[in-house]
Amino acid sequence: MAGYTVRQIGDPVLKQRAADVTEIDGTLVGMVETMFDTMYGADGCGLAAPQVGILKRFFTFDLGDEPGVLLNPEIVESSGEVVFDEGCLSIVGLRLEIVRPETVTVRGLDLDGNEQIVEADDFFARMLQHEIDHLDGVLMLDRLDPDARKAALRELRRRDELAAAPVGGGNPFGR
Ligand SMILES: [Zn+2]
Repeated sequence: MAGYTVRQIGDPVLKQRAADVTEIDGTLVGMVETMFDTMYGADGCGLAAPQVGILKRFFTFDLGDEPGVLLNPEIVESSGEVVFDEGCLSIVGLRLEIVRPETVTVRGLDLDGNEQIVEADDFFARMLQHEIDHLDGVLMLDRLDPDARKAALRELRRRDELAAAPVGGGNPFGR
């Protein structure tokens, strides 16, 4: 399946604030389609444009009900607080317990330019907040307290070392 490359943590594009979508045209619709391909190809349930290097404020999602896209989303209301286990297509292999509001109301536009008001809780609320963070250049690591952040960075380094480690003796595929 054709798709974009999902940028990984360390890529500076993930730390930048994305710009509002000002025009809904064929280019944007094409980007959205390719983002869906990319998201499904990576087995993800949400993908923000900056994650594929597009610094525009929109994201795609599919929690299993129906695919959705929100342009220029903003959180207009939130309440409660809950810990939730999050993963990120830009931080593969790491799951982190992140505290965020439990329910949110998000306002944005659909691909026809119509205003959408989405009230969400549970996993849906979590996904919305995570993706909107991406539009502001915020990664889930940035939501951790300093100690938890250090531990997560250690775990990331270990992940990278394991990936880079030469395969020891008995490698059945030889080299
Ligand atoms: Zn993410």
